[in-house]
Amino acid sequence: MTDQTMQFQAEVAKLLHIVTHSLYSDKEIFLRELISNASDACDKLRYAALTAPELLTEDTELKVRIAPDPKAGTLTIADNGIGMNRDELVENLGTIARSGTEAFSRQLEEAAKEAGKEEGGKKGAEAGRLIGQFGVGFYSAFMVADKVTVTSRKAGEAQAWRWESDGTGSYTIGEADEGQRGTTITLHLAKAQKEFLEPARLRTVIKTYSDHISLPVMLIDPEKAADAEDREEQVNAAGALWARPKSEVSEEQYREFYHHVGRAFDDPWLTLHAHVEGKLDYTLLLFVPSRRPFDLFDPDRRHGVKLFVRRVFITDDCEGLVPPWLRFLRGVVDSSDLPLNVSREMLQNNPLVAKIRATLQKRVLRELERKAEKAPEDYATFWEAFGPVLKEGLYEDREAQESLLKLARFHSSERDGLVSLADYVAAMKEGQSAIYTISGESLEALRRSPQLEGFRAKGVEVLLLTDAVDDFWQNTVTEFDGKPFQSVTRGAADLGEIKGKAKDDGESDEAKPEKVEGAALGTLIAALKQNLGEAVKDVRETDRLTDSAVCLVAGDADLDMHLARMLKQHQRL
Ligand code: ADP
Ligand code: MG
Repeated sequence: MTDQTMQFQAEVAKLLHIVTHSLYSDKEIFLRELISNASDACDKLRYAALTAPELLTEDTELKVRIAPDPKAGTLTIADNGIGMNRDELVENLGTIARSGTEAFSRQLEEAAKEAGKEEGGKKGAEAGRLIGQFGVGFYSAFMVADKVTVTSRKAGEAQAWRWESDGTGSYTIGEADEGQRGTTITLHLAKAQKEFLEPARLRTVIKTYSDHISLPVMLIDPEKAADAEDREEQVNAAGALWARPKSEVSEEQYREFYHHVGRAFDDPWLTLHAHVEGKLDYTLLLFVPSRRPFDLFDPDRRHGVKLFVRRVFITDDCEGLVPPWLRFLRGVVDSSDLPLNVSREMLQNNPLVAKIRATLQKRVLRELERKAEKAPEDYATFWEAFGPVLKEGLYEDREAQESLLKLARFHSSERDGLVSLADYVAAMKEGQSAIYTISGESLEALRRSPQLEGFRAKGVEVLLLTDAVDDFWQNTVTEFDGKPFQSVTRGAADLGEIKGKAKDDGESDEAKPEKVEGAALGTLIAALKQNLGEAVKDVRETDRLTDSAVCLVAGDADLDMHLARMLKQHQRL
């Protein structure tokens, strides 16, 4: 059968174009990506062999081999993992199916357009940074190679396949003769990239990025005869990183492991490594990213914590292992108590998994509390990135509510930075009994809202809520420290009871309009009611305004105005 030519999915073609044209400086990371994939492929085979042992009866020592060939100018990366059949090659190497791809693709397109105008200047670097964040995975091979050949035979299948491309729009696919199980990737190195044929250079790159990989990474010395005993050398430490004692893992190793396990490229904001012993034995190695992953709000997203049982990878999709409102976590949980032959189905509603989640959750929240206390500014950056997700826990998980309220931070009408609810309560004015909030689209709009005038005049702080999730938790969480939450746009906020004075802003009040009072006010209100008719429920005098003449409020029993607007937009009202 002859080879077939196929087109890359549009997103892939775009990505490849940028990968090959941008001045992406860290070209060496291609090796990390390919070794990472080889490691995943071996994990998958080990898991499949739990229920189908025949898959692993031959060639049982799983490893990656890196072989430079200076004469041919090629570098091959070969694994004896799960392999790919024809359909999988097409699907995995011709399309991107990851969640968040759409958002990423849009941003990339913009960056690419800008870069095009400017010929690879600063904006080109922006595209590079974006790619770094999203990860190009396999496609990073094209940063160093003019042509990439992939041959693969899937475990349990007889036919091997060859996939080949020069990274410009299309690839070919056809049958191959190769008999080995697993995947071999041959990079035909570009002229300027011949440094990746030097064993010393390769050794350094592997040590730097892939030392934490549990799989042995072997480097083959091209100078030595094929049967020389020391021709193959293991370069990495191998062995599961999370199983090592904390004292033996360096910060760099943690970071590289985070990049591998979390498919992330930023630095971890928080690393939590714990060996838990007792009724349950398990190890946690968890990371909080410093940046939002692309798929944080994607409906198809998953959490990023992989489940292992005694070092054997089980799944990266264990429902219930991590609460949805901690879905930004990355890392691994390795349990000694679950049976090795546990199927993914058996994990659903598994009480052991639920117990692990409960401690995991507790530990993460405790760690966050510690950070909030010790390093408030650093914590604020975390909160800006992941606060909206944590707030989902306020209504999804009553047990976590109290801890989450302690961790929550807010913008406020009276201060520049973020405030905690404890800060808020401490600054409450005499006679003030509620925690006042206002919801809206943006901080700027909220800060200008006439609804705040009366509060500002008395120096009463109002929390400014701009996340979509804020409208939901406010229906569930009724109070903090005995103080109810109250939206200033709902009903009559009892400002009259509160004694307070605004910080003196030195502004004179000469320009203010004359106040309408007494009988004149009665006539005005009657006239307004008549004119507005059914459009409003009531027209009332208020002490909440100081500068503006009128403002809209919702009735006590009605929905918060911002929520009502949102629901209307979504046609739920
Ligand atoms: P990611 O690893 O984030 O999924 P990649 O671009 O690195 O993205 O790889 C895409 C997919 O191709 C992988 O998810 C995997 O299914 C498949 N793949 C890549 N390399 C290998 C390999 N060596 N063996 C088996 N499958 C592979
Ligand atoms: Mg990958």
